[in-house]
Amino acid sequence: MKHDTVELLKAHGINPSSQRVRIYDYLVASKDHPSVDDIFLALQKEGHLFSRATVYNTVKLFLEKHLIRPVKVASNEMRFDASHSFHGHFRCEACDKIFDIPIEELSLDGATEHQIQETNVSFSGICAECLKKGKDD
Ligand SMILES: [Zn+2]
Ligand SMILES: [Zn+2]
Repeated sequence: MKHDTVELLKAHGINPSSQRVRIYDYLVASKDHPSVDDIFLALQKEGHLFSRATVYNTVKLFLEKHLIRPVKVASNEMRFDASHSFHGHFRCEACDKIFDIPIEELSLDGATEHQIQETNVSFSGICAECLKKGKDD
């Protein structure tokens, strides 16, 4: 069990059970914005016996405590991000993977009279891997 995760969960008012710590560590380590099912299946493969409901409730708690963010892209499935750095998301229409897109600076000169509470920058198209596959065929 990683010590810094325990401290981080505590700092967010979350009781750091070993299941919660494992699920958070998985979210941080995975760069592909997993869904509840992705997390559940990956941890099951590792030999963890968490139920799907445990994963769902844990993710819901992390969202409530602002430990992770939902990724809003055109998809029916809710996906999650543990990264707090400002970045956009690119979703591949072919394989449905979500990639982080670094953003240097966002100009909001035209929106100064509004109070912005949330920012989502999303792109979609075909990822590099799928482009390569298409050429090989
Ligand atoms: Zn792709
Ligand atoms: Zn992201």
